Amino acid sequence: MGETTPMEAKQKFIFVTGGVLSGVGKGITAASIGAVLQAKGVNVSIQKCDPYLNVDAGLLNPAEHGECFVTIDGAETDLDLGHYERFLDLELTQKNATLSGRLLQNLIADERAGKFGGKTVQLVPHLTGAIQDAIQLAADGSDVHIVEIGGTVGDYEGLSFVEAIREFAGRVGRENCLYVHVVYVPFIGTSKEFKTKPAQNALNDLRGFGIVPDCVVVRTDDPAPEGVARKIALFSGVREDAVIMLANAKTVFEVPLTIAASGINDVLSRFTCNEKTPDLTKWKDIVTAQMKDHDQTVRVGMVAKYMDNEDTYISVLESLKAAGWQEDTAVEIVWINAETATDEDFAAVDALLVPGGFGERGVPGKIAAATYALEHKKPYLGLCLGLQVAVIAAARRAGLEGAHSTEFDPNTPNNVVYIMEGQQGKESTGGTLRLGNYDAVLKDGSKVAETYGTTDVTERHRHRYEVNQKFTTDIEKGGLTISGTSPDGKLVEFIEATDNPYFVATQAHPELKSRPNRPHPLFVGLVKAAKQ
Ligand code: GLN
Repeated sequence: MGETTPMEAKQKFIFVTGGVLSGVGKGITAASIGAVLQAKGVNVSIQKCDPYLNVDAGLLNPAEHGECFVTIDGAETDLDLGHYERFLDLELTQKNATLSGRLLQNLIADERAGKFGGKTVQLVPHLTGAIQDAIQLAADGSDVHIVEIGGTVGDYEGLSFVEAIREFAGRVGRENCLYVHVVYVPFIGTSKEFKTKPAQNALNDLRGFGIVPDCVVVRTDDPAPEGVARKIALFSGVREDAVIMLANAKTVFEVPLTIAASGINDVLSRFTCNEKTPDLTKWKDIVTAQMKDHDQTVRVGMVAKYMDNEDTYISVLESLKAAGWQEDTAVEIVWINAETATDEDFAAVDALLVPGGFGERGVPGKIAAATYALEHKKPYLGLCLGLQVAVIAAARRAGLEGAHSTEFDPNTPNNVVYIMEGQQGKESTGGTLRLGNYDAVLKDGSKVAETYGTTDVTERHRHRYEVNQKFTTDIEKGGLTISGTSPDGKLVEFIEATDNPYFVATQAHPELKSRPNRPHPLFVGLVKAAKQ
């Protein structure tokens, strides 16, 4: 533990911290720094450290905290991992998401198991040591490892992380660490000036914890005059060419371009001894596709229960947008409140999308959306719960009275969606979720096989309930066919309507695999169908 081989010592570490405010784009900045390094041919890895006492993001309220992003190995993580995956086109795992709660849980378990040999167990060095071990583990094999620390420096709960990254320089050598502090500079409308004081104070806070940053990223709403950077450099002791002004970009995918054009590129070149000019073709293409005036617009109805926070469905929205860019079509998202939705709402859009969800709120409206799509041949994409409500809709159409999922009606006479044998009774423990990558085999000649262009697929999952294949005949009578299952045939993975140009649903979360320049085929299929 803690020992450094000469090989590892050459690996570089970039720590991204924040000051003044959270939510000014620290995650996008970290991801974009990674994107620029990748464009220079560097092998990058990335990690998010969050100071919460939660063990993972699985039980966090998505309305407050945003989407729960699931990795291939089934880790339930913060939505920042989704940004990282989309920006860096990597598949991340549990080790890329580090939470205080998980580290403390492990430390306390070790303490109870007597692994500390009678020593006092302390935040320093034990928690800070565990954080550093977690960083080295996540860095494994890359040339440059980027670590984003959640929250802002000075937050009481984040102190162990700040201390750990300070100590980390002792492990691997200060010359192998680059500390980037992201601060916000507000523009005060009444006096018409940018105010650097909060940023100066934030930099003082960081220095107070023993970290002198190598680079300061100054976020502003609008471009700021040069004097602002000079002032911050003067007060913080950071070289002026390492104080980088970053005004709001038009879109997040423009940030790698603005970062590459800014002084950060030189900072990164010096730090990694890599003078290569980044090849930004990929990012230029993405931004061009995004900014283009499209000839056509499709209206996709998102039948959802969280209406006031786009972060809750961020991967779904990003997937739809990317599908639109590929198809040269603007995608307008029409929010349909599942709790109040009527057929008129469904009729007013070109396609319907029912995303994943837990709990009963809004479920009747989602079933109504699936019913409407079946009856009116409206393009439909169902994601996880979106598949389950479609199965319920079909079963009811076939005359199965009160057909339901036992999640919403434990006493339903027709449990078309249920918890499988062996999983029953564990519903509330959180331990029975099917999480992460699972393979599926698609039926030859099916719509999904045609859309994917293959019959063997792997998708990420996060759900507890499954389709009850006892009711397959009824589900078919209601207008659906099972078009993909687990390789052993036991689990239903995909369904589609027999009598609809594009009514497709999956038990998985394909949105997690979509990329801005490589949209997921199921979303492309929906946009294509909506165009017609
Ligand atoms: N609540 C459903 C289940 O647990 C669907 C979950 C989801 O949509 N992710 O099976």
